[in-house]
Amino acid sequence: MDFALNEEQEMIRDAARDFAQREIAPVAAEFDASGEFPLQTIRMAGELGFMGIEIPEEFGGSALDTISYAIVVEEISAADAAHGTIVSVNNSLFGVPLLEFGTQEQKEKFLQPVASGQVTGAYALTEPQSGSDAAAMLTRAELSADGSHYVINGKKAWITSGSVAKYIVLFTNTVNGKGKSPSVSAFVIDTDEAGFRRGKTEPKLGIRASATCEIEFDDYKCPVENRLGEEGQGFRIALTVLDTGRIGIAAQALGIAQAAYDAAVIYSRERKAFGRQIGSFQTIQNKIADMKMRIEAARLLTWKAAWAKKKCRQEGTKNTLNGSLAKLFASETAMFVTHQALQIHGGMGYSKELPLERYFRDAKITEIYEGTSEIQRMVIGRAETGLR
Ligand SMILES: Cc1cc2nc3c(=O)[nH]c(=O)nc-3n(C[C@H](O)[C@H](O)[C@H](O)COP(=O)(O)OP(=O)(O)OC[C@H]3O[C@@H](n4cnc5c(N)ncnc54)[C@H](O)[C@@H]3O)c2cc1C
Repeated sequence: MDFALNEEQEMIRDAARDFAQREIAPVAAEFDASGEFPLQTIRMAGELGFMGIEIPEEFGGSALDTISYAIVVEEISAADAAHGTIVSVNNSLFGVPLLEFGTQEQKEKFLQPVASGQVTGAYALTEPQSGSDAAAMLTRAELSADGSHYVINGKKAWITSGSVAKYIVLFTNTVNGKGKSPSVSAFVIDTDEAGFRRGKTEPKLGIRASATCEIEFDDYKCPVENRLGEEGQGFRIALTVLDTGRIGIAAQALGIAQAAYDAAVIYSRERKAFGRQIGSFQTIQNKIADMKMRIEAARLLTWKAAWAKKKCRQEGTKNTLNGSLAKLFASETAMFVTHQALQIHGGMGYSKELPLERYFRDAKITEIYEGTSEIQRMVIGRAETGLR
């Protein structure tokens, strides 16, 4: 067993850290305040190969491993979690279904421009009435009489990058006119086509620049060749994708936690009270120790889940449990650490002059999307007991 990063992974970490601290950190507060999508820095991330980290070079990606993916998302999220979300969704929620279930033509047409960062990708599973219970979706795709296209109607909610995405992986019920009950299928949507509409960008507590919105389909005609996988395979695709997506969210949580922790350690050395550096008080040292311990444990779980993805694929097994453990622990770590780090900063932690209050707001989303903490506990509990 070797816990060290290899030479290539270290290079990736240094490149991601350098880019994130030089280009993203200085504009993070500005984009948090405006809620605008950070197009310029996201395009730069694409030029550096960070929008398709695990995608083969022939489809516009960097052909790196899942640990490199986790490292890049962590470093970018340490500078700004909103950028981390956009990068994570583009890589895993859009990239993975195309890579694993797409045809050669679909990869050339849709994956290449998204993985190379020329345009942005999104993933649409949630609907206004169905989040954790994704199977309760109402959106429908009906096969046309001549079998050339599906007609899609319905609404999706909370779609990250939805306000700007060119292509979206969409999950809907499919009605094939053969009297079969509806089943879920996956499609690639071109948002420039008629029948697609974006709602207003959601004003949010955190990750405010990630351009989340509702999207609506009104007799949208989707060619059959844009269906991903077989009809009825959509739910399997959606869940397979989340196995990788959750590694990205764990890495995002880790980045937020690390940034808050680093700031707290520095402040505890600089700030004086009662004639001493506050870091010399045992209460503050205990907080530092608890934060450090949880961050280290979260990183081990995240890297283990990333490492296990390839192994599981080779063995033909699922990586669901590892991804859930990492996401659950890392997101609760981000909440714990940002809370403690803000407290160590006292009144200054509450001020918008420092990024602590932004870390605190951004951390919360990691406990909600790609499966809430309650759902992760359910996944882990079921896997361990074998009971439903
Ligand atoms: C900022 C943001 C970005 C998002 N991005 C995307 C995206 O890009 N694509 C996309 O498809 N979706 C996205 N989502 C949606 C997200 O995945 C859902 O919000 C999430 O899955 C929870 O669903 P819900 O909001 O409907 O909550 P609900 O499912 O209504 O849950 C409400 C509460 O009930 C609990 N609960 C539900 N079922 C159970 C159960 N069986 N046992 C115990 N507790 C339960 C939940 O844990 C939660 O606490 C995003 C959401 C947000 C806020």
